[in-house]
Amino acid sequence: MKNHARVVVIGGGVVGCSVLFHLAKAGWSDVMLIERSELTSGSSWHAAGGFHTLNGDPNVAKLQAYTVSLYRELEEISGQSCGLHLTGGAMMADTPERMDFLRLAHAKGRCLGMETELITPSEAKAMFPLMDETKFVGAMWDPVEGHLDPSGTTHAYAKAAKKLGATIELRNRVMELTQEPDGTWNVITQNGTVACEHVVNAGGLWAREVGRMVGLELPLLAMEHMYLLTDDMPEVIEYNQSSGRELIGIIDFKGEIYTRQERNGILLGTYEKACKPWSPIETPWDFGHELLEPDIDRIAPSLEVAFKHFPAVENAGIKQIINGPFTFAPDGNPLVGPVRGLTNFWSACAVMAGFSQGGGVGLVLSNWMVNGDPGHDVFGMDVSRYGEWASLRYTNAKVRENYSRRFSISYPNEELPAARPQQTTPLYDIMVNENNAVMGDSWGLETPLWFAPKGSEPKDIVSFHRSNDFEHVGNEVRAVRNSVGVTEIANFAKYQINGPGAESWLSHLMTNTMPKAGRLVLTPMLNENGKLIGDFTIAKADDEKFLMWGSSAAQIYHMRWFEKHLPKDQSVSIHLYGQTMVGLSIAGPNAQKLLAKLCDDDVSNTGFRFMDFRQMAVAGAPCKVNRMTYSGDLGYELWMEPTYQRKIYLAIKQAGEEFNIVDFGMRALLSMRLEKNFPTWFAELRPIYGPYEASMERFIKLAKNDFIGREAAAREHADGPKLRRVTFVVDAEDADVIADEPVWAKVGESDFGSVEPSHGYGARRFDANGDETPKIASQRDRDWRVVGWVTSGGYGHFVEKSLAQAYLPSELSKRDEEGLFEIEILGIRRAAKITLDPLFDPSGSKMRGP
Ligand SMILES: Cc1cc2nc3c(=O)[nH]c(=O)nc-3n(C[C@H](O)[C@H](O)[C@H](O)COP(=O)(O)OP(=O)(O)OC[C@H]3O[C@@H](n4cnc5c(N)ncnc54)[C@H](O)[C@@H]3O)c2cc1C
Repeated sequence: MKNHARVVVIGGGVVGCSVLFHLAKAGWSDVMLIERSELTSGSSWHAAGGFHTLNGDPNVAKLQAYTVSLYRELEEISGQSCGLHLTGGAMMADTPERMDFLRLAHAKGRCLGMETELITPSEAKAMFPLMDETKFVGAMWDPVEGHLDPSGTTHAYAKAAKKLGATIELRNRVMELTQEPDGTWNVITQNGTVACEHVVNAGGLWAREVGRMVGLELPLLAMEHMYLLTDDMPEVIEYNQSSGRELIGIIDFKGEIYTRQERNGILLGTYEKACKPWSPIETPWDFGHELLEPDIDRIAPSLEVAFKHFPAVENAGIKQIINGPFTFAPDGNPLVGPVRGLTNFWSACAVMAGFSQGGGVGLVLSNWMVNGDPGHDVFGMDVSRYGEWASLRYTNAKVRENYSRRFSISYPNEELPAARPQQTTPLYDIMVNENNAVMGDSWGLETPLWFAPKGSEPKDIVSFHRSNDFEHVGNEVRAVRNSVGVTEIANFAKYQINGPGAESWLSHLMTNTMPKAGRLVLTPMLNENGKLIGDFTIAKADDEKFLMWGSSAAQIYHMRWFEKHLPKDQSVSIHLYGQTMVGLSIAGPNAQKLLAKLCDDDVSNTGFRFMDFRQMAVAGAPCKVNRMTYSGDLGYELWMEPTYQRKIYLAIKQAGEEFNIVDFGMRALLSMRLEKNFPTWFAELRPIYGPYEASMERFIKLAKNDFIGREAAAREHADGPKLRRVTFVVDAEDADVIADEPVWAKVGESDFGSVEPSHGYGARRFDANGDETPKIASQRDRDWRVVGWVTSGGYGHFVEKSLAQAYLPSELSKRDEEGLFEIEILGIRRAAKITLDPLFDPSGSKMRGP
C-alpha cells in the first residue's frame, strides 16, 4: 500500500467509488480509496437498484438527473455494464390531494426541463397491467426512471476511476484519523498509515463511526428496509411477450410501495409507517455481506394495499424478502461537503438513494475539493445545514418520521412534530399557553408562526390551498400596518466580529461599504464566482466591534466560510451567538411612540434615524437596537440576552395596550416582506444567482475596495445580468404560489428561449394498443413557453393581492403589461403581471418614519 496520497476516500460503496471516479476525472489521479472489506460491503450490495430524478428540492433533482445521465458514459469508460433498465415510471395518486401534489411536482419539473406528464390511471395500466386502475384518480409519468445492477454500477465507478489513475485498497479498515499541525491527515489503517491532504468520509453504514474518529457526531441513522421478490408471474411474462417491453416502475403512495419488474416477477418494496432503526448508537464493525431478519408483520399493512391495488401480487409466491439497512439524515437528503472546523475533511454520507444521487454527490464534492466550489446549488445536501442541536436522539426521531413519511404528501404549511420542541426561547410558554401560538420549527428553534383565536385549537389545517391561518394572519398584518405589533425574531443568526482588522475583513467579504459607528447596512456576500452566498445586516458598535445578523439556517454554512477566510494574524475574531442572544421586533406606525414609552433615550426620527444602531436600555434591560424591520414599516429590532427577553416582552405588551398592540408571527412577517418586494435567503437569494440578477444592485459597491467576487460581479454588471428577480401580482383564487412553479410567457411577444432545455433522455411511453404516445404540445403549449420560475410567494394581506417572486430572463423583467405572463398554480395557469414597484409604501417613506 502507498503511504501517501492527495486524497483518501474511506468507503467503497457506490458513493465512495463515485467520489473517487469524479476526482480522478477532474485530474486528481493521486487518489486512493480504502475499503474495509470488498466493494459494496455496506448498503450498496443489496439495494433494489431503482433510480429516478424527482426530488422535492429542484437543485437536488438536477443532480439526480445528472447521475442518471452519467451511467452510459460510465459504462463506456469502465467497460463494465451497469445493468441499466430505463423503463420509465408512474407515480399513482389515489386522492385529489395526491393529484395536487403530483401537479405541483409536474409543474416544478417543467422549470427543470423534465418531461414528466400527467396521465390517467388507464394510461398507467397500459404500461403496468398488474394494477386495478379503479383504485387511482391519476398519475404522473416520468420517463427518466428505471433500475440497474447496484454491484455492477459500483464496480463501474471503481473501474473507471482506476483507469483514470486512482488506486483502491480492499480488506483494510481505517482505524483512526489524526492530523498534523500542518494539516496533513494520517489515515491509520490495519495495513499501515497513509498521509494525505484530504480525507473523504464515504463510510455509509459506518459514516457515524468514521465521523467520531475526528470528534464529529453526524446526524444520520440507518433504518431497516425491506423489499420482496416474487416468483415468476404469468401476468408479467404475458405482458413482456405481447408488448415486447418490460413493466414500468410504479410508486403507490397509498400503500407506501414501490414496485417494478425483476426477472419474470416483480420486486416490491415498502416505506412502512412502523419503521425500525438499525444499530441506533453504533454500527458493528463485523457486520458484513449479511441481511437482517425479515419482519413481514411490519409491512403487512402495505402488502394489504398492494393486494388490492395489484391483485395479481396476492397470488404470486414470494421468492425472497430482503431486509437491509441504509442511512438517512433527518430530512432524507445527503450530508455532503467540507465539515466546519476541520481542514480538508469532507463528508459524502447519508446518501439514501445512492443510485439516483451518487453521481451528483461525486460531482459536487470533487468540484468543491478541486475548484473550491461545488459548482451547483447544493444547500439541500450540504452537511452544514445542521447544527449541534441535531443530536443522536433528535436524529433518531426525525429519521423515523422522515422514513415513515417518505410517500406521504408534504404540504407547504405543514410543521412536522418529531423531536420538538428541541430549542425554545424564554417566551415559549407565554406564546403557547397564553397567546395560543401555532409554533413552527426554525432551524431547531420553536418560533411563533401565527396566533389562533383564544378558545380555538392552535393548529394548521394542512393544505395546498389557503387554509385556516389565512384570516388570522391577515388580521395580524392589518394590525401591524395600521398601528403596531410585536414578534419574536430569535430565529435569526447573530454574530459579533471583533478586532483591529474587523472592518477591513468585513469589507473584503461583503459587497457593500461598512457602516459608520452607530449605523446599519444591508449587504450581500458573494463567492469567488460572484454568486450570492449570504445576505446580512451589519451594525458598527465601535471601531473594533461589529454585530451582524443573517439567515438562521445558514449559520454553520456561513461560519465555515468566515472561519476559512479569517486572517491568520488573529486581528479578527468572530463569535456566533446561537440562542445566547434572542430578539423581538416591534413594527407599525405606532412603533416609535411605543419605544419612546419604554426607554430614556431620544428615539425621535432625528434622535434615532432609520438604519441607526444603538445600545440602550429598553424596559430597563440592556438591548442592542436596530432601527429597521423586515416588514417594511416604521420599526425596530431589539436584541437581548435571553434572561431579559420576558421582561422586555411583557413591558412592550403593557405599554402597547393603548395602541392595541398585537402579537404577530413569522407568516405575517413574510407576507409583509412580499408587499415590499424584499427577497429572502434560500428562496430568492441562493448561490445560483448573481447580485444583479437578484436585483440587489443598491448594495453592490464595485468601487469601494476589492472584495471576494468583485471581478465576477463587475462582469455581470458590464455584460448585464441574464436573469432578473421580479415580483408578480397573480390572479389567484384560493391557492397562492408556494415555490418552483413555472412562469409561462406568450411566445412571439418577444424573442426569448426557454430557460432550460429538456435533457431528452428517457424511456418511451405507450398506450393500451401498444402505440407510442409522443408528447404532442397542445396549441396552448405552442403559444406559451416556460421562461422562468417562482422562488416564493403568498398572499399580501394588506395590499390584498396574491404575490410571487420569480426569476425571468432580463429582457422580460420590465414587461409589466397585462396578458404576457401566466403562473401555474396546482395545474391551472393564472394570469400574472409584473409589478415593478413594491405595492406597499413604494417610496419607503413609512419605514423612514414621520
Ligand atoms: C434494502 C435496500 C434497498 C435499497 N434500494 C435502493 C434503490 O432502489 N435505489 C437507490 O438509489 N438506493 C437504494 N438503497 C440505498 C442504497 O443502498 C444506498 O443509498 C447506498 O448504498 C449508499 O452507499 P454508500 O456508499 O454511501 O454506503 P455503503 O454502501 O454503506 O458503503 C460504505 C462502505 O464504506 C466501507 N467502510 C466504512 N467504514 C470504513 C472504514 N473505517 N474503513 C474502510 N472502509 C470502511 C464499508 O465497508 C462500505 O463498503 C437501498 C438500500 C437498501 C438497504
